[in-house]
Formats: sequence, C-alpha cells, structure tokens
Amino acid sequence: QWIYLNGEFVTKENAKVSVYDHGFLYGDGIFEGIRLYNGNIFKLREHLDRLYDSAKSIMLEIPLSYEEMQEAVAETLRKNNLKNGYIRLVVSRGPGDLGLDPRRSPKANVIIIAEQLAIYPEEAYVNGLKTISVSPRRNLPDALNPKIKSLNYLNNILVKIQSNLAGVGEAIMLNSQGYVAEGSSDNIFIIKRGVVFTPPCYCGALEGITRLAIIELCAKHGIPLKEEPFTLHDVYVADEVFFTGTAAEVIAVREVDGRTIGEGKAGPVTTRLLKEFRGIVELDGYK
Ligand code: PLP
Repeated sequence: QWIYLNGEFVTKENAKVSVYDHGFLYGDGIFEGIRLYNGNIFKLREHLDRLYDSAKSIMLEIPLSYEEMQEAVAETLRKNNLKNGYIRLVVSRGPGDLGLDPRRSPKANVIIIAEQLAIYPEEAYVNGLKTISVSPRRNLPDALNPKIKSLNYLNNILVKIQSNLAGVGEAIMLNSQGYVAEGSSDNIFIIKRGVVFTPPCYCGALEGITRLAIIELCAKHGIPLKEEPFTLHDVYVADEVFFTGTAAEVIAVREVDGRTIGEGKAGPVTTRLLKEFRGIVELDGYK
C-alpha cells in the first residue's frame, strides 16, 4: 500500500508526520472520506469543494491547487491499483511549536490514504440497524461549525464509545437544544407519511455529500423532502429512518431506543433510495 505524503508516495511504515503537527496536538486540520466505485471517484468535486471551503474557513492554506489535488487523488488510486474502496484525504495544519498559533505552522501536511473498505453486510441494508440516542451533544455552529469537516472528532468518538457499549453500530446525536443532529459519522433521515425529513445543517448536521445526493434523488423522483428540525419523538414515531454516509451509503434503521421503526426492517422509500443511490455511484464520478 502506497500513501501519498506531501507529494511523495511512501509505504505505510514510512508514512509519518511530526509530533509537533497541530493536527496531532490540537485536532487542527480537516479531512474528507471519499468513495471509489469501479474506478469512479464518487462526487470528487463536491468533496474537494467541501475540503477547500473548510480550509478557507479555518485559514488553512492547502499547498496544492484544486486540479493538483484532484490529480494527487487519482494518482494515489493508480499507484495502489485500486478500483473500489475508500479514500481518506487529510490536510493538517502541519508542524509548529507548542502554542496554538497557526501562523507558526507554515506548512500543512497533505496525506492521501486509499484502501479497501469494510462495510456493513448486505443483510443490514435489508433488515436495518438497531440504534440508540446518546448523551454527547453535537456542537452547534457558533461553537464549531458542522460544515467544517475538521479533525475534531472527540464528540463523535464519545458517541462511538457509547454505541459500542450498547452493541450498536451507529447512534443518534442531538444538539444542545435537544434537536436531532446526525449520527457519529452519518447523516440521518426520517420518513413520515411519504415525506422525507432531514435536519438542516444549523441543527449540527454535517453537509454530507451522500445527504446531498439523497436530496437530489428525492427532487429528481418527486419524493417530497423537507430540511426541518425534528426531535427524538419524531424519530420514534417515523415510518422509516435511515442514515447516509460515504461508507454506509443509505442504511435503514429498524429500532431506535427500543422502539421498532415501521415494520422493523428497511421500508419501501429507504429501499428505493438505496437502489437509486447505487444506480448513480458509478455515473457521477471522476476517473
Ligand atoms: N456526519 C459526520 C459527522 C461525518 O463524519 C460524516 C462522514 O463523512 C457524515 C455525516 C456523512 O457525510 P458524507 O456523506 O459526506 O460522507
């Protein structure tokens, strides 16, 4: 496996950055998780847009132009001879001193890792996941804008720990006002009487690329969708619930906090959206 590290390809063992990197010291940096389907990089433009927007917002200068980054990703895939898998793109603030000041880290580290993906078994897409709501709260935009896909994932790790203890694969995070925000690394959707709902980003949801694809698919197929705040009550009484994410794609939820959702398996709208989603993953790609 070859890892892209600042313009060079190194082996996994040699892929190292400084302990003074502020990505390590402070979580100062950004990342993207991108999917590769049969040689097509799914929605690379959208991922790079989000990456460069995140960078601008935190005043992090990415030492590669947009086109150079596109090429670096494609080159990493060629080098690893990968046709299907997962790409992790990380830009950290880079080495500095022990203070917080980002001006003392003049050179960002750019890392691209591409590898096979361990995903949910196909059975989970049919039967749905069991999930729970958890106590850690998603930071609201004034604290940490969820549109910035930053390396600060401590809340998400706390969610993961809680879901591990409960023996579930994903969990529902609320924001500090009690509205549903998202999962630990997935966006959430509910369906009630044929209408699809997903929390707006100001509720603390990342502007997920898969989320966006689902919004577009609903528009294309005339499925009504509203970006609207909702609570756990709305989740409990929904006809269908599903998560979306680069790794998870579109995965149904069959139970939330002990409440069975709908028929207790993937419902018709979720199943349809998964099918439509899988229908576009190879079309909308960068080769
Ligand atoms: N929410 C969080 C916190 C995430 O880390 C992710 C994963 O990237 C998502 C949602 C889903 O976003 P995407 O569909 O872009 O993978």
